[in-house]
Amino acid sequence: MSKVVRVAVVGYGGMGGWHTKRLQEIPGVVELAGVYDIKPERNKAAEENGIHAYSSFEELLADKTVDVVTVAIPNDQHKKVCIQVMEAGKVAISEKPVTLCTADLEEMIAASKRTGSVFTVHQNRRWDEDFRVAEKIAKSGQLGRVFAIQSRVHGSRGIPGDWRNTKAQGGGMVLDWGVHLLDQMNMMMGKMPVSVYATLSNVTNEEVDDGFTATFKFDNDLVFTVEVGTSNFINLPRWYVEGLNGTAVIDDFQVNGKIVIATADEEHDAVPIVTAAGLTKTMAPRTPETISELPLPRIDCDIHDYYRNIAAVVNGEAEQIVTHDQQRQLMKLMEAIFESAEKNQVVYF
Ligand code: NAD
Repeated sequence: MSKVVRVAVVGYGGMGGWHTKRLQEIPGVVELAGVYDIKPERNKAAEENGIHAYSSFEELLADKTVDVVTVAIPNDQHKKVCIQVMEAGKVAISEKPVTLCTADLEEMIAASKRTGSVFTVHQNRRWDEDFRVAEKIAKSGQLGRVFAIQSRVHGSRGIPGDWRNTKAQGGGMVLDWGVHLLDQMNMMMGKMPVSVYATLSNVTNEEVDDGFTATFKFDNDLVFTVEVGTSNFINLPRWYVEGLNGTAVIDDFQVNGKIVIATADEEHDAVPIVTAAGLTKTMAPRTPETISELPLPRIDCDIHDYYRNIAAVVNGEAEQIVTHDQQRQLMKLMEAIFESAEKNQVVYF
């Protein structure tokens, strides 16, 4: 019988708190051993919430009942703390982004090989329904050959006023939201792009990017655009998928949107639109009898599958879902975005 896997969380901030909740929702699979935060007031807050708080990181590492440690602290500290976790013989889960550069990632992977401890990353947005629906539509063939996909998130509050504002701590939106959207792109495409051209924005913040647009070209001529904006008071759609036979739009995380597909050839000439500057047939709408509007499919996604996988890995029943090679690819894409933006040039992979 599979043992119940015990997980401790380092960092009891926004995301550490989220982990502690999810870990308590699948009894019989995982259980929360406790937390450790460098700030005493956060440990106190944990205890007030009925969660055991370790008195030090060393005490947490010395707890022989702990199998797995989730590291939910600022990005620049993931490497050091995850390596210490692995050296203590425990599974290390790093929050995303795994770290700040390929060289650091390779040190973490080397530590996993040296210690024999599993090392993986919390790429939780693989369980977002909007992503799963976009992926399903793109792969279904119902739009015909898909030639362009846009994936974007927009907000209007700039970068949170914490460590995300500082370069040394791994701030900026490429590392924060970009890493999620790029991981989703990698899952959808299953291969490396051929090239990327990227621009970074610094609307509210000089030190780190507060948004970016990256245009990836794939070898089948598919163009995949990834965009993050934090100064957008009107959001563009979360997903826009274009095929030769139809278009799908997913407006938001709640999966509102629609699919429009061509059902027949147009028998009659388009009725032109009159604009101040002249007539246009090219931009005239399709005649209603030649298109069909369909609802978006819905997909059951359960975020707890992330920790179910971790438990299965500890019990020797499964391979880790988030692999080292996937992390290498993600880091390469993020580094290429920075390089392209800095040089104002296309970067080839
Ligand atoms: P946060 O600032 O809310 O919390 C970080 C906590 O870590 C703070 O309480 C801080 O005191 C503590 N801390 C700092 N250094 C520490 C150390 N050495 N040992 C123990 N505790 C330490 O930040 P956050 O929003 O929770 O982000 C933490 C990590 O989670 C980041 O890597 C971030 O990118 C990631 N994150 C992931 C998601 C996701 O969806 N996967 C969402 C938000 C944040």
